[in-house]
Amino acid sequence: MKNIQEKIIAAADLISNSNYLVAFTGAGISVESGIPSFRGTEGLWSKYNPEVLDLNFFNKNPKESWVVIKEIFYDFFGKANPNPGHFGLSRLEELGILKCVITQNIDNLHQVAGSKVVHEFHGNSQVLVCTDCGKRYTIPEVDLEQQPPECMECSGLLKPDFIFFGESIPMDAYQASLAAAEKADVFIIIGSTGEVMPANQIPEIAKQNGAKIIEINPSPSNYTHHLTDIFLDGKAGDVMALLMEKIEK
Ligand code: NAD
Ligand code: ZN
Repeated sequence: MKNIQEKIIAAADLISNSNYLVAFTGAGISVESGIPSFRGTEGLWSKYNPEVLDLNFFNKNPKESWVVIKEIFYDFFGKANPNPGHFGLSRLEELGILKCVITQNIDNLHQVAGSKVVHEFHGNSQVLVCTDCGKRYTIPEVDLEQQPPECMECSGLLKPDFIFFGESIPMDAYQASLAAAEKADVFIIIGSTGEVMPANQIPEIAKQNGAKIIEINPSPSNYTHHLTDIFLDGKAGDVMALLMEKIEK
Protein backbone atom coordinates (compact mmCIF):
# COMPACT_ATOMS: atom_id res chain seq x y z
CA MET A 1 0.00 0.00 0.00
CA LYS A 2 1.43 3.34 -1.00
CA ASN A 3 -0.53 6.50 -0.60
CA ILE A 4 -2.82 7.75 2.13
CA GLN A 5 -5.94 7.42 -0.06
CA GLU A 6 -5.36 3.68 -0.56
CA LYS A 7 -4.70 3.24 3.14
CA ILE A 8 -7.86 5.17 4.05
CA ILE A 9 -9.91 2.85 1.80
CA ALA A 10 -8.34 -0.25 3.36
CA ALA A 11 -8.89 1.05 6.91
CA ALA A 12 -12.49 2.11 6.19
CA ASP A 13 -13.11 -1.40 4.83
CA LEU A 14 -11.69 -3.06 7.93
CA ILE A 15 -13.77 -0.80 10.19
CA SER A 16 -17.02 -1.29 8.24
CA ASN A 17 -16.62 -5.07 8.24
CA SER A 18 -15.49 -5.38 11.86
CA ASN A 19 -17.43 -7.32 14.48
CA TYR A 20 -15.91 -5.68 17.54
CA LEU A 21 -14.15 -2.38 16.90
CA VAL A 22 -12.38 -0.77 19.86
CA ALA A 23 -10.64 2.63 19.92
CA PHE A 24 -7.67 3.54 22.12
CA THR A 25 -6.87 7.25 22.40
CA GLY A 26 -4.07 9.37 23.81
CA ALA A 27 -3.30 13.06 24.19
CA GLY A 28 -2.90 13.40 20.39
CA ILE A 29 -6.64 13.19 19.69
CA SER A 30 -7.17 16.38 21.71
CA VAL A 31 -4.32 18.39 20.17
CA GLU A 32 -6.64 19.80 17.46
CA SER A 33 -8.96 20.88 20.30
CA GLY A 34 -6.14 23.08 21.58
CA ILE A 35 -4.94 20.82 24.42
CA PRO A 36 -1.21 20.14 24.12
CA SER A 37 0.25 16.74 24.92
CA PHE A 38 2.59 16.32 27.89
CA ARG A 39 5.74 15.50 25.97
CA GLY A 40 7.69 17.24 23.21
CA THR A 41 8.77 20.85 22.70
CA GLU A 42 5.17 22.13 22.70
CA GLY A 43 4.17 19.75 25.51
CA LEU A 44 2.84 20.84 28.91
CA TRP A 45 5.96 19.60 30.71
CA SER A 46 8.12 22.06 28.79
CA LYS A 47 6.26 24.79 30.73
CA TYR A 48 5.20 23.17 34.02
CA ASN A 49 6.93 20.96 36.57
CA PRO A 50 5.32 17.49 36.58
CA GLU A 51 5.92 17.17 40.36
CA VAL A 52 2.64 19.08 40.99
CA LEU A 53 0.93 15.85 39.89
CA ASP A 54 2.98 13.66 42.19
CA LEU A 55 0.76 12.35 44.99
CA ASN A 56 3.34 12.89 47.77
CA PHE A 57 4.12 16.41 46.60
CA PHE A 58 0.39 17.22 46.32
CA ASN A 59 -0.34 15.98 49.86
CA LYS A 60 2.52 18.02 51.30
CA ASN A 61 2.01 21.14 49.16
CA PRO A 62 -1.67 21.17 48.16
CA LYS A 63 -1.88 24.90 47.56
CA GLU A 64 1.22 25.04 45.36
CA SER A 65 -0.01 22.04 43.34
CA TRP A 66 -3.53 23.38 43.02
CA VAL A 67 -2.45 26.74 41.54
CA VAL A 68 -0.86 24.89 38.62
CA ILE A 69 -3.59 22.22 38.39
CA LYS A 70 -6.25 24.94 38.15
CA GLU A 71 -4.37 26.77 35.44
CA ILE A 72 -3.77 23.67 33.29
CA PHE A 73 -6.86 21.55 33.79
CA TYR A 74 -9.64 24.04 34.54
CA ASP A 75 -8.80 27.52 33.19
CA PHE A 76 -7.26 26.03 30.06
CA PHE A 77 -8.73 22.53 29.36
CA GLY A 78 -12.13 23.83 30.47
CA LYS A 79 -12.48 25.92 27.32
CA ALA A 80 -11.69 23.10 24.85
CA ASN A 81 -14.29 21.57 22.52
CA PRO A 82 -14.25 18.18 20.77
CA ASN A 83 -12.90 18.00 17.20
CA PRO A 84 -13.76 15.72 14.22
CA GLY A 85 -11.57 12.99 15.78
CA HIS A 86 -13.84 12.75 18.84
CA PHE A 87 -17.00 13.20 16.75
CA GLY A 88 -15.98 10.45 14.31
CA LEU A 89 -15.70 7.98 17.19
CA SER A 90 -19.08 8.95 18.68
CA ARG A 91 -20.68 8.54 15.23
CA LEU A 92 -19.09 5.08 14.81
CA GLU A 93 -20.62 4.09 18.17
CA GLU A 94 -24.00 5.45 17.08
CA LEU A 95 -23.73 3.34 13.89
CA GLY A 96 -23.22 0.26 16.08
CA ILE A 97 -19.70 -0.34 14.74
CA LEU A 98 -17.54 0.95 17.61
CA LYS A 99 -18.08 -0.90 20.88
CA CYS A 100 -16.06 1.35 23.22
CA VAL A 101 -13.37 3.97 23.57
CA ILE A 102 -10.46 3.31 25.92
CA THR A 103 -8.87 6.68 26.64
CA GLN A 104 -5.78 7.81 28.47
CA ASN A 105 -7.14 11.35 28.36
CA ILE A 106 -8.73 13.06 31.31
CA ASP A 107 -10.35 15.94 29.41
CA ASN A 108 -13.89 14.47 29.10
CA LEU A 109 -14.01 15.42 25.39
CA HIS A 110 -15.16 11.97 24.21
CA GLN A 111 -18.25 12.27 26.40
CA VAL A 112 -18.87 15.87 25.29
CA ALA A 113 -18.73 14.61 21.67
CA GLY A 114 -21.44 12.05 22.49
CA SER A 115 -19.51 8.82 23.11
CA LYS A 116 -21.40 6.68 25.62
CA VAL A 117 -19.06 3.79 26.45
CA VAL A 118 -15.76 5.36 27.50
CA HIS A 119 -13.27 3.54 29.73
CA GLU A 120 -11.18 6.23 31.38
CA PHE A 121 -7.87 4.60 32.10
CA HIS A 122 -6.51 7.61 33.97
CA GLY A 123 -9.73 9.06 35.39
CA ASN A 124 -11.45 12.36 34.59
CA SER A 125 -10.63 15.96 35.45
CA GLN A 126 -14.28 17.01 35.61
CA VAL A 127 -14.84 15.31 38.97
CA LEU A 128 -13.14 16.21 42.27
CA VAL A 129 -12.95 13.80 45.18
CA CYS A 130 -12.47 14.53 48.90
CA THR A 131 -9.21 12.99 50.13
CA ASP A 132 -10.77 12.51 53.61
CA CYS A 133 -14.38 11.36 53.23
CA GLY A 134 -14.46 10.34 49.54
CA LYS A 135 -17.38 12.62 48.59
CA ARG A 136 -17.36 13.45 44.88
CA TYR A 137 -18.15 16.81 43.30
CA THR A 138 -18.61 17.96 39.71
CA ILE A 139 -16.67 21.07 38.74
CA PRO A 140 -19.65 23.49 38.74
CA GLU A 141 -20.35 22.52 42.37
CA VAL A 142 -16.94 23.71 43.55
CA ASP A 143 -15.52 27.22 43.94
CA LEU A 144 -12.09 26.90 42.36
CA GLU A 145 -11.27 30.48 43.29
CA GLN A 146 -10.82 29.15 46.81
CA GLN A 147 -7.40 27.51 46.80
CA PRO A 148 -6.97 24.72 47.64
CA PRO A 149 -10.63 23.71 47.27
CA GLU A 150 -12.17 21.99 50.31
CA CYS A 151 -14.94 19.45 50.90
CA MET A 152 -18.24 21.07 51.92
CA GLU A 153 -18.99 18.15 54.27
CA CYS A 154 -15.73 17.68 56.16
CA SER A 155 -13.33 20.46 54.98
CA GLY A 156 -10.98 17.78 53.61
CA LEU A 157 -8.68 18.57 50.68
CA LEU A 158 -10.27 18.00 47.23
CA LYS A 159 -8.24 16.26 44.54
CA PRO A 160 -9.05 15.88 40.83
CA ASP A 161 -10.37 12.39 40.09
CA PHE A 162 -7.60 11.56 37.65
CA ILE A 163 -4.60 9.54 38.65
CA PHE A 164 -1.48 11.29 39.85
CA PHE A 165 2.03 9.87 39.57
CA GLY A 166 2.19 7.18 42.23
CA GLU A 167 -1.47 6.12 41.95
CA SER A 168 -2.85 2.96 40.43
CA ILE A 169 -5.28 2.60 37.53
CA PRO A 170 -8.98 2.61 38.53
CA MET A 171 -9.86 -1.10 38.71
CA ASP A 172 -13.17 -0.92 36.81
CA ALA A 173 -11.63 0.96 33.86
CA TYR A 174 -8.63 -1.37 33.84
CA GLN A 175 -10.72 -4.53 33.74
CA ALA A 176 -13.17 -3.18 31.15
CA SER A 177 -10.27 -2.07 28.91
CA LEU A 178 -8.59 -5.45 29.17
CA ALA A 179 -11.82 -7.28 28.32
CA ALA A 180 -12.46 -5.01 25.33
CA ALA A 181 -8.90 -5.44 24.01
CA GLU A 182 -9.28 -9.22 24.23
CA LYS A 183 -12.55 -9.16 22.28
CA ALA A 184 -11.54 -6.65 19.59
CA ASP A 185 -11.14 -7.87 16.01
CA VAL A 186 -10.19 -4.38 14.82
CA PHE A 187 -8.43 -1.92 17.12
CA ILE A 188 -7.71 1.71 16.29
CA ILE A 189 -4.97 3.64 18.12
CA ILE A 190 -5.22 7.43 17.87
CA GLY A 191 -2.59 9.91 19.09
CA SER A 192 -0.59 7.90 21.60
CA THR A 193 3.19 7.52 21.87
CA GLY A 194 2.79 4.20 23.67
CA GLU A 195 5.22 5.32 26.34
CA VAL A 196 2.86 5.42 29.31
CA MET A 197 2.71 2.22 31.38
CA PRO A 198 0.56 0.19 31.89
CA ALA A 199 -1.86 1.76 29.35
CA ASN A 200 0.58 0.93 26.56
CA GLN A 201 -0.04 -2.79 27.15
CA ILE A 202 -3.68 -2.57 26.04
CA PRO A 203 -2.95 -2.44 22.26
CA GLU A 204 -0.44 -5.28 22.74
CA ILE A 205 -3.20 -7.42 24.24
CA ALA A 206 -5.51 -6.65 21.31
CA LYS A 207 -2.78 -7.69 18.86
CA GLN A 208 -2.00 -10.89 20.77
CA ASN A 209 -5.68 -11.78 20.54
CA GLY A 210 -5.68 -11.39 16.78
CA ALA A 211 -6.97 -7.84 16.26
CA LYS A 212 -5.99 -5.89 13.15
CA ILE A 213 -4.39 -2.62 14.25
CA ILE A 214 -5.08 0.73 12.58
CA GLU A 215 -3.11 3.72 13.86
CA ILE A 216 -3.61 7.48 13.33
CA ASN A 217 -0.67 9.73 14.25
CA PRO A 218 1.31 12.45 12.44
CA SER A 219 4.53 10.82 13.73
CA PRO A 220 5.47 7.16 14.18
CA SER A 221 4.95 5.86 17.74
CA ASN A 222 6.28 2.89 19.72
CA TYR A 223 3.49 0.86 18.08
CA THR A 224 3.99 1.81 14.45
CA HIS A 225 6.73 -0.61 13.47
CA HIS A 226 5.88 -3.72 15.47
CA LEU A 227 2.12 -3.61 16.04
CA THR A 228 0.38 -1.46 13.44
CA ASP A 229 -1.12 -3.04 10.30
CA ILE A 230 -2.31 0.20 8.68
CA PHE A 231 -0.54 3.43 9.66
CA LEU A 232 -2.54 6.54 8.75
CA ASP A 233 -0.01 9.31 8.84
CA GLY A 234 -1.86 12.51 9.79
CA LYS A 235 -3.81 14.45 12.39
CA ALA A 236 -6.67 12.72 14.19
CA GLY A 237 -9.36 15.18 13.05
CA ASP A 238 -8.26 15.25 9.41
CA VAL A 239 -7.86 11.49 9.09
CA MET A 240 -11.11 10.66 10.93
CA ALA A 241 -12.99 13.01 8.61
CA LEU A 242 -11.60 11.14 5.57
CA LEU A 243 -12.40 7.75 7.13
CA MET A 244 -15.97 8.75 8.01
CA GLU A 245 -16.54 10.04 4.48
CA LYS A 246 -15.69 6.55 3.13
CA ILE A 247 -17.58 4.65 5.85
CA GLU A 248 -20.80 6.66 5.55
CA LYS A 249 -20.73 6.78 1.74
P1 NAD B 1 1.81 11.71 24.57
O1 NAD B 1 1.76 13.10 25.08
O2 NAD B 1 2.85 10.80 25.08
O3 NAD B 1 1.86 11.67 22.97
C1 NAD B 1 0.96 12.30 22.15
C2 NAD B 1 0.93 11.61 20.79
O4 NAD B 1 0.00 12.31 19.97
C3 NAD B 1 2.27 11.62 20.03
O5 NAD B 1 2.51 10.34 19.50
C4 NAD B 1 2.03 12.64 18.90
O6 NAD B 1 2.77 12.33 17.71
C5 NAD B 1 0.55 12.48 18.68
N1 NAD B 1 -0.12 13.63 18.07
C6 NAD B 1 0.22 14.95 18.10
N2 NAD B 1 -0.69 15.69 17.44
C7 NAD B 1 -1.62 14.83 16.97
C8 NAD B 1 -2.82 14.99 16.20
N3 NAD B 1 -3.25 16.20 15.80
N4 NAD B 1 -3.54 13.88 15.92
C9 NAD B 1 -3.14 12.64 16.33
N5 NAD B 1 -2.02 12.45 17.04
C10 NAD B 1 -1.27 13.52 17.38
O7 NAD B 1 0.38 11.13 24.80
P2 NAD B 1 -0.06 9.82 25.48
O8 NAD B 1 0.61 8.65 24.88
O9 NAD B 1 -1.53 9.87 25.50
O10 NAD B 1 0.48 9.93 26.99
C11 NAD B 1 0.44 11.09 27.77
C12 NAD B 1 -0.37 10.91 29.05
O11 NAD B 1 -0.68 12.21 29.53
C13 NAD B 1 -1.66 10.25 28.81
O12 NAD B 1 -1.63 9.08 29.50
C14 NAD B 1 -2.75 11.18 29.34
O13 NAD B 1 -3.30 10.69 30.53
C15 NAD B 1 -2.07 12.44 29.72
N6 NAD B 1 -2.51 13.64 28.98
C16 NAD B 1 -3.82 13.83 28.74
C17 NAD B 1 -4.24 14.94 28.04
C18 NAD B 1 -5.70 15.12 27.77
O14 NAD B 1 -6.52 14.68 28.59
N7 NAD B 1 -6.05 15.71 26.64
C19 NAD B 1 -3.30 15.89 27.59
C20 NAD B 1 -1.94 15.65 27.89
C21 NAD B 1 -1.56 14.52 28.58
ZN1 ZN C 1 -15.00 15.29 52.75
